[in-house]
Amino acid sequence: MFVSKNLGVNEKNHLTIGGVDAVELAEQYGTPLYVMDEDLIRENCRLYRDSVQEFYGGHGRVLYASKAFCCKAICKVVSEEGLGVDVVSAGELHTALSAGVPAEHICFHGNNKPADEIEFGILSGVGRFVVDNPDELALLDSLAGKAGRRVKILLRITPGTDAHTHDFIKTGQIDSKFGMAIENGLAMEFTKAAYRMKNLDVCGIHCHIGSQIFELEPFTYTARVMLSFMADVRRECGETMSELNLGGGFGIKYVEGDQPVAYHRYLEQVAKEIDAVCAELDFPRPFIYLEPGRSIVGSAGVTLYTVGSVKEIPGIRTYVSVDGGMTDNPRYALYQAKYEVLVANRAGDDADWRVTVAGRCCESGDLIGENLPIQQVNSGDYLAVLATGAYNYSMSSNYNRVQKPAVVFLKGGKSRVAVRRESLDDILKNDLI
Ligand SMILES: *Cc1c(COP(=O)(O)O)cnc(C)c1O
Repeated sequence: MFVSKNLGVNEKNHLTIGGVDAVELAEQYGTPLYVMDEDLIRENCRLYRDSVQEFYGGHGRVLYASKAFCCKAICKVVSEEGLGVDVVSAGELHTALSAGVPAEHICFHGNNKPADEIEFGILSGVGRFVVDNPDELALLDSLAGKAGRRVKILLRITPGTDAHTHDFIKTGQIDSKFGMAIENGLAMEFTKAAYRMKNLDVCGIHCHIGSQIFELEPFTYTARVMLSFMADVRRECGETMSELNLGGGFGIKYVEGDQPVAYHRYLEQVAKEIDAVCAELDFPRPFIYLEPGRSIVGSAGVTLYTVGSVKEIPGIRTYVSVDGGMTDNPRYALYQAKYEVLVANRAGDDADWRVTVAGRCCESGDLIGENLPIQQVNSGDYLAVLATGAYNYSMSSNYNRVQKPAVVFLKGGKSRVAVRRESLDDILKNDLI
């Protein structure tokens, strides 16, 4: 009945997350609160890892795209499950390294990595840099030379795939700040330049076609385009690339009607396509990388709030205000992301009200959603917003000097704090007078 399979309702009519009473969590840890079901996260990691084993003979690695949700605890969990980690900044890299993720299993992304962060990556020994453009290629080569290291790279290529998704999160087309396009010849120029670099070792290519994608076809099509490009490189440069990173972007269920592809089906189809194209082009089957972010953590998260005011504007709408908002979840304000909400202490009741859930910030656009079906709700109730595990905590801010919530992990029916709630002193910690 809920969007995530780890949710239920207990005999007290309370929402349960991984079998744990959400109302008890709200009372024990306070609100707003991010709750992450570690058991479900581990299960998601295994689904991906096992599918690489089953459909691709284990000739690949799954990298967790940590931008979806990054803290030491999650890096440790995914690493224990055999995944590597994608990072896009020194901050994410430092987090992953501090959590004990082996540097060689870290992949460093980003369309404009600052020089000092590149140096940090080189000296840490990250496994792969994904190089975005010619300027970065030259910069990385010179920094690698300065450090006396040879650096392994993948080249970010734009395959030109339209993944039928929201414009703001679509990155596969020619007009993109990410990567170099095949269609206009720039990708090939870029590749030739990469092979000329003294301190770089070109392992292969990378693409990422978008996010929250529900169809299989954009992925299989992209695999074909990328492999054809690898065959073109072999013809034009005489070099055979051995690695193909297919990115992430697999959709999850946020609301009724969302129909994500089962992740093992994804790899089954893509592996078939890779085998077919490799046979057609007489190209050796590459080592592959998958980079799921959202689909590892999204469904595992629930945000709990306390309801403050409930204000009915007759004939217009009812505003239900909560003790968080765009500071912990800016996704509605950014691109009208949809969520399912419910009253955690009345979870089994009919959702026969319609309300707008508003945050506490001084910004009219600070909403969690509009016209949402919900149970009868009063001041003092606990509100749960479902499937908030991805791009919530990682996009949180201190706007209005609101403190960031705690993150609690659930495992085997027990809870623990993975990230402490910010204190008022944390808010001041960098201020000088
Ligand atoms: C964001 C991103 C991902 C993860 O995307 P999801 O939609 O969260 O799976 C993977 N790879 C790259 C390069 C990304 O930018």
